[in-house]
Amino acid sequence: MLDAAFFRHWLTSAAALVDREAERLTELDSPIGDADHGSNLQRGFAAVSATLEKEAPATPGAVLTLAGRQLISTVGGASGPLYGTLLRRTGKALGDAAEVSEQQFADALRTGVDAVSALGGAVPGDKTMLDALVPAVDALSESFGAARDAAGEGALATTPLQARKGRASYLGERSIGHQDPGATSSALLFDALAQTAEA
Ligand code: ADP
Ligand code: MG
Ligand code: MG
Repeated sequence: MLDAAFFRHWLTSAAALVDREAERLTELDSPIGDADHGSNLQRGFAAVSATLEKEAPATPGAVLTLAGRQLISTVGGASGPLYGTLLRRTGKALGDAAEVSEQQFADALRTGVDAVSALGGAVPGDKTMLDALVPAVDALSESFGAARDAAGEGALATTPLQARKGRASYLGERSIGHQDPGATSSALLFDALAQTAEA
């Protein structure tokens, strides 16, 4: 079973990974965006870590909804509301249980990923974070490691795609040949999740 401490640990680990990889995320956002994805998420996840430490929410649902709200209020740019929605809607789906099973988490995360798709109007193949999130949530019922691998492969597979949503879509065919920054940061979130599960 997964408790509030597990989810706090996940998001704190995600913040550390995002911090370490911020420069790379911003570099990926240079040719097909506005070179701010790393700094956007660095600021957002630092705020998430600080808030979780201060408020120490007692249930998985409360951890995720608080983190999601924090991302929405601190990250300017498309990724803030999208990742914020992912965490808030996943948290809401978990309700107020003190502990949740891995399958309950996988089902809740599916609700969150669907909400991201509804908010941004993107589906897999559009060269967005959904190209990592959807395969990851598909694999999560199997294991955290499988979800990490699926997210990583999904991020790499965005390179030959033409962007159909977000800033990169303004480039049309010129968006081809670059890995999507948001799919790459989504893969980091699943790296952090697998690390947390192994710890
Ligand atoms: P901005 O583009 O506003 O500067 P960021 O650079 O922080 O925001 O985030 C860009 C990432 O957001 C993209 O790489 C893509 O993965 C994701 N993204 C953008 N628009 C959408 C959308 N409509 N649906 C899903 N993901 C999106
Ligand atoms: Mg950007
Ligand atoms: Mg921006």
